[in-house]
Formats: sequence, structure tokens, C-alpha cells
Amino acid sequence: MLSTAVLVLNRNFQAVQVTTARRAFCLLFRGAAHAVGRDFQTFDFSAWSALVSDNGHDVVHTPSAAIRVPRVIQLLGYDRVPRPSVRFSRANVFTRDRNTCQYCGRSFPRHKLNIDHVIPKSLGGDSSWENVVCSCVSCNRIKGGRLLKDAGLRLLRQPRRPVWSPLFRRDGVEWYDEWTPFLAPEGRLLSRN
Ligand SMILES: [Zn+2]
Repeated sequence: MLSTAVLVLNRNFQAVQVTTARRAFCLLFRGAAHAVGRDFQTFDFSAWSALVSDNGHDVVHTPSAAIRVPRVIQLLGYDRVPRPSVRFSRANVFTRDRNTCQYCGRSFPRHKLNIDHVIPKSLGGDSSWENVVCSCVSCNRIKGGRLLKDAGLRLLRQPRRPVWSPLFRRDGVEWYDEWTPFLAPEGRLLSRN
């Protein structure tokens, strides 16, 4: 339970990173952070631990109580927005391209998708955010080892290095409803102001 993901906001309610519940509890306990509930209500450690939890909540047990694991915390003394870089990996390319073939625009389950080098490796293309896209099997076959113009294909959009968001953490598997108000669906960080 203590390794559950917790979204960390800065003082201005902007998402800055994802941490573990263990670290979130340390910050709460030290008074460096507040837990954020529904409707943007904030709670210090004692107010938060007094909340009643039911079956719908993840909890940690102390000798005397069961304390809810917060999904979102707010750092009280921090107002910057750092931009961690996204690790270049197959899974993160799929996340960036939203599991959508960048040639035909259809989306597929990940096991039916390929990674395509826009400029083929055999023609000197590198493995980078700018030269790699998500592609379905049939578009991949059509393209073969050719350049776009030779294959008669066009990209939906120019591939770029993505802006970090918690979507990229653990291949985008983990996502809690409580995070949504702070994060736009396309994975860009969203601020309230
Ligand atoms: Zn396709």
C-alpha cells in the first residue's frame, strides 16, 4: 500500500511529479504537504488521519487507526513546475502516440502495434523521439524499408519529444480518477490558473 502512486502538486495546484504513498506520508507528517481531497479540499496530517475510511479507500494501518492513502498531495513551500524528461522507450512512444498508428490514424492494443523508424535505420535514421512513431502492422508492411514519399505515406503529425506527465510513469498503466482534474487527458500538465 505504501508504494501506491500519489500525484504531487505545487502550491498553485500544478502537477509536478508522482511519488509513493510512503514519501507522501512523510511529507504530510512533517507538515511540508497537505493531502488534497475531492473538491480541492486540503487536509493537514491530523485532519486527514481523522477522516473515516470505507472499503473504497486504500488505507494504511497504524496501531490505533486506519489512515487513507491520499491520491493527491500539495506541497506547501514549492511553486515551481519542473519538467522531468521522458525516457525514450517503446512503451513511452506508444503512450505519446496514444496507441494510434501515425499513418492510418487507427488505434490498436499495444501488442498489435509496431515501432516504425520514419527514416529507416538502413537509410541512416536513428532511434529517437523525432524519428520513431507508433505504426500498425499493415502500415508498417506497406512502408517497408522506404522513405515516406517512396511509400506514399504521410504522418498524422511530426513526432517530437513529449512533455512529461504522469501518463509516462510505469507505461501509463496507473491512473486515478482523483488525478484527472489536475491533468489534461492528452497528457499535458494542466494548471488551474
Ligand atoms: Zn496504420
